[in-house]
Amino acid sequence: MNVYSTMSRQKEPLKVENNKIKLFVCGPTVYDYSHIGHARTYISFDVIVRYLKHEGYSVFYLQNITDIDDKIINRAKERGEDPLELAHKFEAEYIKDMETLNVKNVNFYARATEHMQEIIDQIQDLIDKGYAYDTPTGVYFDVSKFESFGKLSNRNLDDLQNTRIEVDTTKKDPKDFALWKKQDEGPYWDSPWGNGRPGWHIEDTAITESYFGPQYDIHGGGLDLIFPHHDAEIAQMEAASGKEPLVQYWMHTGFLNVRGEKMSKSLGNFITIKELLKDYEPDVYRFFVLSTHYRSPIDFSDDILKQAENSLKRIQNTAKLVVAQQENDNLPQDDECSIIDDLESFRSEFFDAMNNDFNTPIALSSLFDFTHKLNKVIADNQVSAESLALIVDTLKEVESIFGFTIIVEDDASESSDELLNILTDVRSQLRADKNWDLADKIRDDLAALDINLEDK
Ligand code: AMP
Repeated sequence: MNVYSTMSRQKEPLKVENNKIKLFVCGPTVYDYSHIGHARTYISFDVIVRYLKHEGYSVFYLQNITDIDDKIINRAKERGEDPLELAHKFEAEYIKDMETLNVKNVNFYARATEHMQEIIDQIQDLIDKGYAYDTPTGVYFDVSKFESFGKLSNRNLDDLQNTRIEVDTTKKDPKDFALWKKQDEGPYWDSPWGNGRPGWHIEDTAITESYFGPQYDIHGGGLDLIFPHHDAEIAQMEAASGKEPLVQYWMHTGFLNVRGEKMSKSLGNFITIKELLKDYEPDVYRFFVLSTHYRSPIDFSDDILKQAENSLKRIQNTAKLVVAQQENDNLPQDDECSIIDDLESFRSEFFDAMNNDFNTPIALSSLFDFTHKLNKVIADNQVSAESLALIVDTLKEVESIFGFTIIVEDDASESSDELLNILTDVRSQLRADKNWDLADKIRDDLAALDINLEDK
């Protein structure tokens, strides 16, 4: 299996010890409802994890929750709420949204505020080793001490000179970034350098060090995090541990835009997951996300979502035909077509694509080609029971990797509605025949099931 790493800017064979993978993906800053851009990133990693597991890797998937940050504090001020309560309310909403989207593989969500001691210990370690210094406003990482700073984004220190990361006159150099921000207002924690709260980057390395140690396998996030966030993480952890690399593979998802523009509240094109799900099924959104490679930008529009809806429906309709065909009493003993060869070619195209840096759009298009072939041979009743079973197994396998429904179960509520209609018709006939006892018995038995019939 080949995986593209942002560090080497190329695909590399995936090599891990004992098939065990430690994966960390940056979680959200919880100051509002999560949006469809978050969903793009987290669905992509969900499918990556599903596929790694399918291929026999055992994956521990860790995500942090940024539950203390300027955005949270500002939003709480605007709303007159307690910042931590606000953060934890939106964290719960985020987790609900992920469950609805069938994003279910995170093993542990680690809140920044629950790792304060680990954060303080790591900052102290960096001070002791000469990589960080204390000022009246905070503790800062001295980027001049870490020679390879910027190696992930490929920016050198001269480029950084022009990037105002954080303005603060107490810093030795504008490029230095905060590890600890001193303050006595709002949520703050006690530390050897005075009351305050952590900078943006340190929570991630403090959390990953405590669960994974100083080095691990894969770190993921959206493209926007490469600089300065991930470069800062590398500097912090490699400086503190003296070991490199921090991670073997850096994976970044492309950005989601809405109708060609960056999503933003001021442009009025900001869509939360909850709003999205009023119009589209979670499966449709997953299908839409997977129709583009995870590293490419993706454009959201109603037209594209409608196309995704139709394409998914077509695949589900074919799957329905296959399942229904299994009930056919007149199936041929042996296949009267080459569907098993087609199944084999589909499987090999599908898995080649997934092994090639999780190329879901190619895998999906091979699924499409295969379903076209299926439609014809099923309609002509050319497929044996044995082959139908193999096809259903493969469709279920694909379903478990992509995390959307391919084989739609018959809607139980639809069939129970039909049964009720039959019962009420029979009862009307009984009443017409003046068979009151039996008609009443039906009404009473239904009432015991909380179904109340009214004769009007
Ligand atoms: P945030 O809550 O902004 O810290 O973002 C959490 C994760 O979602 C990060 O990995 C971001 O890169 C990712 N993300 C945020 N906005 C988008 C977007 N429009 N498209 C794709 N990923 C996004």
